Amino acid sequence: MVLRTLQQAIRAVATSDGAGVKLYRSIGQSAAARLDPFLMLDEFGTENPDDYIAGFPDHPHRGFETVTYMLDGHMLHQDHMGNRGDLRGGDVQWMTAGRGIIHSEMPQQLEGRMRGFQLWINLPASEKMKPAGYRDIPAADVPAVVLKGGGSVRVIAGTLDIDGKQTPGPMQGLSTEPLFVDVELAPRQVFRQALPAGHNAFLYTYEGDVSVGEPPRVLPPRSAGILSEGDQVSVIAGEGGARFILLAGRPLREPVVQYGPFVMNTREEIEQAVRDYQAGRLTAGA
Ligand code: MN
Repeated sequence: MVLRTLQQAIRAVATSDGAGVKLYRSIGQSAAARLDPFLMLDEFGTENPDDYIAGFPDHPHRGFETVTYMLDGHMLHQDHMGNRGDLRGGDVQWMTAGRGIIHSEMPQQLEGRMRGFQLWINLPASEKMKPAGYRDIPAADVPAVVLKGGGSVRVIAGTLDIDGKQTPGPMQGLSTEPLFVDVELAPRQVFRQALPAGHNAFLYTYEGDVSVGEPPRVLPPRSAGILSEGDQVSVIAGEGGARFILLAGRPLREPVVQYGPFVMNTREEIEQAVRDYQAGRLTAGA
């Protein structure tokens, strides 16, 4: 058993995207802040409608997957394939852009708290041009495991493995084998979880702080903590308890060329994506 340690902490920076939605970006705030296969993690979290009301009107993607996980609020997703997803607290939307998708994500509330995450996961070269896919996962389909000593874990993708007891989440069988769990811990509570050796992993604290590894190293609130190699992670919540998401995935080890909402392997493929989008054939079948 090799315990993973906290290798690097990336503090989220305040930024905005879409038509002016305020958010906190940790992974992906620069090209150096990616963690293969994870390209970006944004947390949106505010009580102020001015920060979210403009939403994300129609925009394209190619070459990767976007995962939206809502904690609070109400968002409507619509795409060019005719999919409509009404996202509320606890719901997940897993969208595979593949060769192309055009979609919008618009708030359906005029006031109150809006909070959640958007995660971008890369696709291998062999899957970047596959047909777009879409899956809505209602909160009721996300298993919640109650931990000994309080706290709980929601399993969105991959399989939770605590003391050999396995709880599979609804998303399985992707080539990057992502683990995506949402953890809530009581003050000073310890969380231990098996993580596949060789997979890159990080956690992101969205309430409170945690200590990671042995000897424990503190990860402050609103930070992505990149984990070292190993096959286990141990996290201790701070004095006020903590909430964090934990992500792990198989690295692709392929070149990443990103231009806004397009993520490919070469500059030529990016230029092709821009041409396809401008010509209205980004989403056209092969
Ligand atoms: Mn989008």
